[in-house]
Amino acid sequence: MTRDTPSLLAALAAAPQDRVVYDLAGIEEGYDTLVRELPDVAVRFAMKACPVDEVLACLAARGSGFDAASPQEIAQAIRTGVPLTRIHYGNTIKSDANIADAYRLGIRDFATDSLADVRATAEHAPGARVFCRLATDGDGALWGLSNKYGCSAADAVRVMTAAKESGLVPAGLSVHVGSQQMTAEAWRAAFERLADVATALLARGTRLDHINLGGGLPATGYLDQHGRPLEPPTDKIFAVIREGMQRLREVCSSHLDFMVEPGRYLVADHGAIRAHVARLTAREKLNGERHHWLYLSCGKFNGLYEMDALQYRVVFPSHQGAETVPAVIAGPTCDSDDAYAYDRGLVQVPREAASGDPVWVLSCGAYATSYTTQGFNGFSPLPVAFVRGGEEPGGATAPLRMAAEGVR
Ligand SMILES: *Cc1c(COP(=O)(O)O)cnc(C)c1O
Repeated sequence: MTRDTPSLLAALAAAPQDRVVYDLAGIEEGYDTLVRELPDVAVRFAMKACPVDEVLACLAARGSGFDAASPQEIAQAIRTGVPLTRIHYGNTIKSDANIADAYRLGIRDFATDSLADVRATAEHAPGARVFCRLATDGDGALWGLSNKYGCSAADAVRVMTAAKESGLVPAGLSVHVGSQQMTAEAWRAAFERLADVATALLARGTRLDHINLGGGLPATGYLDQHGRPLEPPTDKIFAVIREGMQRLREVCSSHLDFMVEPGRYLVADHGAIRAHVARLTAREKLNGERHHWLYLSCGKFNGLYEMDALQYRVVFPSHQGAETVPAVIAGPTCDSDDAYAYDRGLVQVPREAASGDPVWVLSCGAYATSYTTQGFNGFSPLPVAFVRGGEEPGGATAPLRMAAEGVR
C-alpha cells in the first residue's frame, strides 16, 4: 500500500504548529485496495481506530459501513448518512440501556458472546439479528485481544440456540484474530473454527447468512520495538482469506455474505503527526550509564498511545543527513510510561536537535485521535487537519524526497 504521499509530507512540512494530518486520498486508495483484494466482502470500518467525521464521511462515500461499539458511535455513524443496514453494534459488552438506545436508533445487528447478553438483547432489541463472536488465541498479533471477547465453539452453539429460542435471528459468526496480526496462519485457524461452528449449527437446523471476519489487517509502516520495519505478509493474508471464504461457502452449501471490520489497516499509514522537539538531553543513571533522551511535544497521551508496543518512523526535516546520536524517544508528560521501551530500542536522532525543531511521526493515523487524553498534565489533544490528493507538489524539498524514500 502506498503511504507517505507527497501531499501528506507537504502538509507536514507546511504546518507551522503541531497537528495530526490525515491524507483522505490515501485512505480512499487503501479502501479500494481492500475491496479489490477481497471482492464481495462488505467493509465495516471499526470506528474507534479514527472517530473523525471527515474520515468517516470519506469512507462512507466510498461504500464503507461501520462497526460501532456504543450508542455514541452509532449516532456518529448515522450522521455520515449511511443506511442503518451498514452499521452494526460490534461490541459484545453492553448494558441494557446501551442495547435499548441502539435499538431505538434503528440498529438491528448485534454482536454477542454470552447467554446473559443474548437474554438482554432479546428483551431490549426484540427480534434483532445477532452474530456470535468466537474466541481466538491472538497468536501472531501485536495486540492479541484473546481474553476479553469471544466464546468457545460449544458456547457459541448454546448462545445461538438460545438466541433462536428467544425470538432473535441467529444470523452470523464473527472473529477477530488480534490487532496488527502478522501471520496468515491466524486467519487460517480462525476459518477452521468458523467452519466447525457453522457445521455444528447447521446440524441443529441453524443456517447462517453471514460471517464477520473482524479486524486485525496490518498496517505496513510501523517499526517494531527495536526499530526494525514490521513487514506483514499482507498478500498471503488476503490469499488465505479468499481461500477460507470459498471453503466456508462450501461447508455451509448456501449463500454466505462476508464482512471485514478493518481499523488500523485503513487509517494507520495515511495519518501522521507534525510534532516538535521539546529537548534533547543526556543523563547519567544510578548505574553509571549515560543515555540521550529526546523529548517530543507529543507522546503516549496525545497521539502516540501505542508507543509501548511499537516504534514509529520519525523524520527530522531540518536535520536530514546530519550527524546522529542514539536516544530514547519520549513524550512530554510527567509519566514514565510516556516513552519508548528504554531497554529495547534506541533511535538515531540528530545530535544538534534543538527545542522547537519540527518532527514528523509517520504511520500513526490509527488510534491517534481516539487514544488521546483530555489534558493530561495540560497537554491538549492535537488539532486534526486533512489533505486530499496524491499528486507530486512542485519542487519537493530534500527532506520530502528522503522521507518519501523511507529515510528515518
Ligand atoms: C477494534 C476492533 C476492530 C479493529 O481492529 P484493527 O486491529 O484495528 O483492525 C474490529 N472489530 C472489532 C470488534 C474491534 O473491537
